[in-house]
Amino acid sequence: MEPSIFSKIITGSIPASFIARRDLWVAFLDINPRAEGHTLVVPVEQKQRIRDLSTESQRSLIEGVSEVSSKLCSHFNIEDCSIVVHDGPAAGQEIPHVHIHIIPRSKGDGGKSLLAMFPDVPNPGVIEPNFSELAELAKTLYLD
Ligand code: 5GP
Repeated sequence: MEPSIFSKIITGSIPASFIARRDLWVAFLDINPRAEGHTLVVPVEQKQRIRDLSTESQRSLIEGVSEVSSKLCSHFNIEDCSIVVHDGPAAGQEIPHVHIHIIPRSKGDGGKSLLAMFPDVPNPGVIEPNFSELAELAKTLYLD
């Protein structure tokens, strides 16, 4: 497998501004930040989607997200972050190596929420939730 841009960053052949290096994940600043401090948390294991990662990498990655978001919040004196994953190309992923965006957020920063990703779907409150359809789908999706 060709090393991804992020694998090249991890091995040092492409430079990056790291804020953490651990055995199973690293964190470095995004070169096109949506807000100051926008960080990518990236597993050392090169896989395109979260479900392809080993359980050990998955667990460690979520610890990384927690550690990095805590650091960003204390550094920027804020409470909140958007934590975003584009888990495959149809979901907007550009680099085929799992990465979790952590973007510091504050009130009135102009950033949007999940609703903005689907502008053609009616907003909550505009139409009644279809409870029976949701219940049917949940039955077919249920993980035993
Ligand atoms: P995606 O759209 O795949 O979820 O996000 C890819 C992110 O990687 C983008 O926000 C982009 O700015 C960032 N990125 C792409 N190439 C590089 C790079 O060489 N270095 C760093 N630090 N970030 C990169």
